[in-house]
Amino acid sequence: MNQHFIDRKYIENLLGEAGRADASAADRALEKAERFEGLSHREVASLLVSDDPAVLKRVFAIAGEIKRRIYGNRVVMFAPLYVSNHCVNGCAYCSFNLGHGFERRRLTMDELREEVRILEQMGHKRLALEAGEHERECPIDYVLECIETVYAMKFENGEIRRVNVNIAATTVENYRRLKAAGIGTYILFQETYHEPTYGLVHRAGPKKDFAWHLGAFDRAQEAGIDDVGAGVLFGLADPRFEVLGLLIHNEHLEKTHGVGFHTISVPRVCPATGTDVSAFAKPVDDATFAKIVALIRIAVPYTGMILSTRESHEMRKKLLRLGISQLSAGSSTEVGGYAERKRAAVATHPQFLVNDDRSALSIISELMDDGYVPSFCTACYRSGRTGDRFMALAKSGRIGGVCLPNALMTLCEYSMDYGDEAFREKAAAVIEREITNIADEKTRGRTIANVEKIRSGGGRDFYV
Ligand code: SF4
Ligand code: SF4
Repeated sequence: MNQHFIDRKYIENLLGEAGRADASAADRALEKAERFEGLSHREVASLLVSDDPAVLKRVFAIAGEIKRRIYGNRVVMFAPLYVSNHCVNGCAYCSFNLGHGFERRRLTMDELREEVRILEQMGHKRLALEAGEHERECPIDYVLECIETVYAMKFENGEIRRVNVNIAATTVENYRRLKAAGIGTYILFQETYHEPTYGLVHRAGPKKDFAWHLGAFDRAQEAGIDDVGAGVLFGLADPRFEVLGLLIHNEHLEKTHGVGFHTISVPRVCPATGTDVSAFAKPVDDATFAKIVALIRIAVPYTGMILSTRESHEMRKKLLRLGISQLSAGSSTEVGGYAERKRAAVATHPQFLVNDDRSALSIISELMDDGYVPSFCTACYRSGRTGDRFMALAKSGRIGGVCLPNALMTLCEYSMDYGDEAFREKAAAVIEREITNIADEKTRGRTIANVEKIRSGGGRDFYV
């Protein structure tokens, strides 16, 4: 494995060269992006440095078009599940960092079941399991037990159907065990690709090792995990550098393993208990952030993009149009936070403060008002459509042919299980409008029949 595929000098030089190049490089990149072919990091560099309003206008227009044509108006919903806040790392931006004195905890299996029950009552089918790094307090065996417990729970309305996992960089052997446990995507944010900044904000613990962290997806791939989800914490270093780092990482994985990122998350630094983020953060303003999201969208058109509740309601609305395809909803970023919220307790130590604190139901309802189709689909992972099989379908342009029916069937199920009459009517109107957009006649017929079955109680959990 090449642990040095992020070469700081190379990226800095590339940004410098791009800044000196004439406008034709940006034009050529835009022409290629318009064909939905994706862009190399070199091509993106010319757009990152451009401050020409006409270029930016085209970037937004292409990103919007890619979003519409590849992802349609579907939005996949998920929620985080924090299981442990024990951590041996000193990440400056995180309230779980080891320097913070608060009572740490990890969920017992009974507490975990309570959290999952509440998440299921919110209608979630897809979770992102989150834990700090602590070999003694949160060993891999504990994480595996959590996953097994979640998958074993069955409710009247179904079950959690996909557990994505966001835990610290680990060994090939541990990734093998995660794979065997049936995880969905393995998520790990590089936080920053700028090595000196990485060293400054990761003040202690194994995460301080830039190369170990950077090589995590290679080890995961070696262990057979072919769906990996990346991310950058925007606001630590120059965002232009971060975008190039992210794309170089993706190209490295494509070259080495034949498949790049399944998803990219785009968190921005936000306030966290016990941390003065102003001491190290270089805030990324909304306009720059929108440009970054749009550029990632056009660079990797077939990679899902995830936005969390760190962002405000308004910003989430705006970024959905530019490329975001997955949203969290009703999130708690605290260990045991869903049960505490149910008891009306105030969050005591969340990992970060959420900006969009509306309930899952109100977020989902508003998405429909805005013309979107909220989706609880987990079909690819359950049908073995992962890694290169998923990418082949995505790049063929035929993924929408399965995403749309699945979105409609899962929305129907959600509306029957969790909605009141008004919500059900709204969902029915969305389903009626969208079902005609299923191009394949046979799939359309099956979807119509399955929606009827769900409504009449004649079956559930259908997917194609
Ligand atoms: Fe620990 Fe993760 Fe927070 Fe770093 S970001 S302190 S590794 S929980
Ligand atoms: Fe995601 Fe696959 Fe479902 Fe489409 S069909 S929403 S890609 S899981």
